[in-house]
Amino acid sequence: MAGEGDRERSSALVAGLAGISLRCGRCGTAIAADRSPGRCGCGGLYEVVYTRAPAIDLRAFERRLGSWEALDRSGVWRYRELLPPLPSERIVTRPEGNTNLYSHPALSAWTGCTNLIVKHEGENPTGSFKDRGMTVAISHARAVGARAVACASTGNTSASVAAYAALAGLPSVVFLPAGKIAAGKLGQAIAYGARIVQVEGDFDAAMQLVEAASSELDLYLLNSVNPFRLEGQKTIVFELLHQLAWEPPDWIVLPGGNLGNTAAFGAALEQLVRWGLVAQLPRLAVIQAEGAAPFYAAYRSGFVELRPVRAETVATAIRIGNPVSYERARRAIEFTRGVVEIVSDEEILDAKAVVDRAGIGCEPASAASVAGVRKLVAQGVIRPGDRVVAVLTGHVLKDPDAIIAYHLAGERRPLANRPVTIPPSLAALREVLDDAG
Ligand SMILES: *Cc1c(COP(=O)(O)O)cnc(C)c1O
Ligand SMILES: [Zn+2]
Repeated sequence: MAGEGDRERSSALVAGLAGISLRCGRCGTAIAADRSPGRCGCGGLYEVVYTRAPAIDLRAFERRLGSWEALDRSGVWRYRELLPPLPSERIVTRPEGNTNLYSHPALSAWTGCTNLIVKHEGENPTGSFKDRGMTVAISHARAVGARAVACASTGNTSASVAAYAALAGLPSVVFLPAGKIAAGKLGQAIAYGARIVQVEGDFDAAMQLVEAASSELDLYLLNSVNPFRLEGQKTIVFELLHQLAWEPPDWIVLPGGNLGNTAAFGAALEQLVRWGLVAQLPRLAVIQAEGAAPFYAAYRSGFVELRPVRAETVATAIRIGNPVSYERARRAIEFTRGVVEIVSDEEILDAKAVVDRAGIGCEPASAASVAGVRKLVAQGVIRPGDRVVAVLTGHVLKDPDAIIAYHLAGERRPLANRPVTIPPSLAALREVLDDAG
């Protein structure tokens, strides 16, 4: 059994993975970090445990901003002391992250929050925050000698898996709920060359199938059951705090679907406090779509239990009825004294129209966070002067159909921007321009 691949693999492990192990968050069983981490036998998920305290030097993070070195230029690997110590020759990076902060009077006016900043994760290489987790997980897959990778996805994970697998030279298989994927995302997965399997059913059905398939068929699983994805997603918080000169905001607001990001944000904040990098803890506000809100229901019932639902919402990236990261997301809410809120599809689409019209732009699921800020300000949970960062998770071009449908929908939409068709004459042009006032 000791072939070339195995020897290569064990030397990479000795070099790279000595500083971490994986521990089940439910039963505490620990395993070595040398394989595709599926679920623990008890049904729980593994977490990365750091066996050494990191040597953190904030000036090094600062210096790397001026470097052309690939790992320094990545908004993920810039913070590598806070990440799994993977062998640098196995790291696959575009580079990701480096996402900007924006504020705009229209966003403050619409939400009632004067100190609102948005962090645009749609500026990642494939247009969503998924790339931050993918660079870490694919690099781990290469370090342990994986031969092929797989995921189930509502769209953005598949776009990211397809791109990073292609960069790494690994075959990829993505499981998609048939007919439920936004055009931009499906187009990306096809273009980057993933093998695409459309499953008749919803995301949760595709998820079950890929979990079964990964253990049967020896596919390295890249869903957010994979703890390396969450390690990478923590860098949204690291980079944000770096951008804010390590002065935490009062609130971080984000959409919640499978709850991987919620879990990652909570874990990142726990670490920052433990390592003494921030003194005061921001509160998390997780926003779900009304039609896909099992986490909200659990929160409202004091986290007695999670009841899976049949999910329906225009925001396809959060159309998830049985969130994988429920337990760790619950911990994140409790640790940060966070809140969970719901918004309607109507509110999501109106928020998106405001973000888009401000010249910033995002996909529908991302706008849930902005709609959530508005609702929480109206409720008095967020005070109008609080420093609030809302995360925009995906790019405006991910879901063009949602844009067209909204703007052609007619009079009820105050921000609707209807294209007009005219004969090629100046008179006709004058008429429509006069109409527009
Ligand atoms: C994946 C995704 C989400 C949901 O994030 P979770 O970590 O699954 O809660 C939200 N918005 C966009 C654009 C996404 O791609
Ligand atoms: Zn377990």
